[in-house]
Amino acid sequence: MQIITDPAEMQAIAENLRLQRQLIGVVMTMGALHDGHLSLVRLAQKRAGTVIMTLFVNPLQFGPDEDFERYPRPFEQDAALARSAGVDYLFAPEPGLMYPEEFRCTVDPGPMAGRFEGSARPGHFRGVATVVLKLLNITKAHVAFFGEKDAQQLAIIRRIAADMNIDTRIEAAPIAREPDGLATSSRNIYLSPEEREHAAALYRAIRHAEAETGRGRRDLAAIAKEGLAIVSSAPGAKPDYLCFVDDDTFEPADEAAPGKAYRLVMAVRIGTTRLIDNWRYMCEGNRDT
Ligand code: AMP
Repeated sequence: MQIITDPAEMQAIAENLRLQRQLIGVVMTMGALHDGHLSLVRLAQKRAGTVIMTLFVNPLQFGPDEDFERYPRPFEQDAALARSAGVDYLFAPEPGLMYPEEFRCTVDPGPMAGRFEGSARPGHFRGVATVVLKLLNITKAHVAFFGEKDAQQLAIIRRIAADMNIDTRIEAAPIAREPDGLATSSRNIYLSPEEREHAAALYRAIRHAEAETGRGRRDLAAIAKEGLAIVSSAPGAKPDYLCFVDDDTFEPADEAAPGKAYRLVMAVRIGTTRLIDNWRYMCEGNRDT
């Protein structure tokens, strides 16, 4: 595995790979690697000949009161994990080379970026969209892999790719979870042992929604309210939002229509740690009946 820190060098390598007709897959991360990231690498290895992992804690997507400074940065451990997972290139750019003094332009990700994570974290998706576009241009990837864990981010990236005619296929990987159902996340290490136990409430709300929709209920608003009660009953849990949305547009949805896909999305603060999770639900039945 080669470690590259200069965007221009990464771009030159990617150009060469393309000339050699290599299919390039990219997995973008902020490091503190866990099973979720590694599942993206495994998927990338199935789909592409060369796998580039990017590792960059992107300052542009953090608000002023967020955890940019304390975000974990175990670089040596990450590099070892990426190497043993079979990553070909680890692109860990210098912040000053990504955002030099004269840097001015950002990507406006449109209306979907104003809801949920976007309203809780103003400017977050502008920062994500900007760095994703930069990393696609630097790595020249044919396919880019993103986790469903960040479902709104994934939907926004798909929208940008379509709207801007980006010549990279966007592929999603399912959410990797701990044995009790908690979605793996670099932020889980912020949780104390008690908080870690209470955090399982998010997955309990998902299981409840799964069971209730499974027995034919379509009253999504009511199911979400029950999920909210489940999450709120965990000590120290403060839900930020928990509701069903249309899976394409992220518009809130109160009632399921046959043949349509929805997503239960949630953000919950456990102590000072903000966790997000989601679950996709396809309402069975014929749209026309
Ligand atoms: P991050 O390092 O948190 O920015 O995440 C980098 C990529 O890994 C994003 O595409 C995330 O959606 C994905 N990811 C993070 N956690 C998980 C998880 N538990 N399961 C699947 N993908 C994940």
